[in-house]
Amino acid sequence: MIIKVLDTTLRDGEQTPGVSLTPLEKLRIAVKLDEIGVDYIEAGSAITSEGERDSIKEITKQGFDAEILSFSRPLTVDIDYCLECDVDAVNLVVPTSDLHISDKLNTTRDNLIDLSNSAIDYCKDHGLIVEVSAEDASRSDFDFLKSVFSNAIDHDADRLCVCDTVGILTPDSSFELFDKLNGLKAPISCHCHNDFGLAVANTLSAIKGGASEIHTTINGIGERAGNTSFEECIVSIDRLLPEFSTNIKINEIYDISKLVARSTGVYIQPNKAIVGENAFAHESGIHSDGIIKNSATYEPMTPELVGRKRKFIIGKHMGTHGLNNRLKEWGLNVDDVQLKQICDDIKDLADKGKTVTDVDLQVIADNVLQINHEDRIKLDELTIVSGNKVMPTASVKITVDEEEILNAGVGLGPVDAAINSLKSLDIFKDIDLIEYHVDAITGGTDAFIDVIIKLQKGDKVVSARGTEADIINASVKAYIAGVNRLLRD
Ligand code: MN
Repeated sequence: MIIKVLDTTLRDGEQTPGVSLTPLEKLRIAVKLDEIGVDYIEAGSAITSEGERDSIKEITKQGFDAEILSFSRPLTVDIDYCLECDVDAVNLVVPTSDLHISDKLNTTRDNLIDLSNSAIDYCKDHGLIVEVSAEDASRSDFDFLKSVFSNAIDHDADRLCVCDTVGILTPDSSFELFDKLNGLKAPISCHCHNDFGLAVANTLSAIKGGASEIHTTINGIGERAGNTSFEECIVSIDRLLPEFSTNIKINEIYDISKLVARSTGVYIQPNKAIVGENAFAHESGIHSDGIIKNSATYEPMTPELVGRKRKFIIGKHMGTHGLNNRLKEWGLNVDDVQLKQICDDIKDLADKGKTVTDVDLQVIADNVLQINHEDRIKLDELTIVSGNKVMPTASVKITVDEEEILNAGVGLGPVDAAINSLKSLDIFKDIDLIEYHVDAITGGTDAFIDVIIKLQKGDKVVSARGTEADIINASVKAYIAGVNRLLRD
């Protein structure tokens, strides 16, 4: 059975504290949601603002395959704005718990049903598809919830949705709730929140209980602890619930996850399922060895399934198999004695509590293999001007292949200015800085600063570090070390 997917990244997801998307960012995400096969896209809440309406209009203009919805309260003023945006459908949100009805809306159950019914009538009269979402349904009196739904069906609502607004369902109670609602003459959807970390589990249980549609957000962003995460839920349905499937192109999941992380500035925790940095990374020797022999030993799915690649991490748990694999990728052939020496040196560094970067590994391997490699770029001088009344400005003198080059740059801060003063030079073009981490090694303002960066050139990614008392020097050192590593191949 095919489960329909309503993605609400652009509505509930945008309600993530601190997140606000521009119309262009919203459009880019909507394009990708449509491409990846989302059935229904909740594009926003038309009543919110002029800018929000512009975003929704831009999306409805595109002629996507997906149905486009706007959030709406059961009020004509809201619905009129939805109509102005030319959406296909509305997500008509009707609070059904007594807490919401009395404390939030200061009204009565009877009144609420009247409100809901006339709003549905108004929508249907204007040609809108209507999904009636019972807000706080999981804390509502069951008989009343059921009567709101029956009334909605009598007024030709197209779909119904049970919202676990504050995320208090468990997999068991979610199953029971949806099972009890079976038999209503409209498709039922499930909208879960992740306050107890159970949103995906509850959504899967809802499907088993009879839900035929699910609400998700990319990366699980949303209010408080967020919503049901799209990528986790879709892949779980595909891999773990054999009797169900979705229309989603699973191998594009990683792309859309990165797009949403970049646009919202809400970055993904490394250990997040499916899309986290470590989801397909292996460091331990035993695991890497197993993976190389047969990836099923320590992976429940291949990384390619979700559009990713496997990674072997260099560190103290690493074994010689994983290490040899990495060295081979770099075109380095080593004998057993050399391999053991490189492995020991890496473990020494890791035992000091250091992350081992690609540049660290290169330096260690060069030493063991007695390779003398001249770096193409050398930093000669770096000067920074920064303060509260000047635009941070950097000037650099570097030597590239024996040639001295002077350049300058400005930036939002002194590190940004320093990196910009390099980036505009020819030799740095095509190289992107994709990650930048700063750690103070000791506690005070005189601490040593450890900067670890990741750089990308084409499909090649390297990590590099700089450790200095001065954060700008540390950053520039890491940057130049990483670029030198990339230029070596
Ligand atoms: Mn919600």
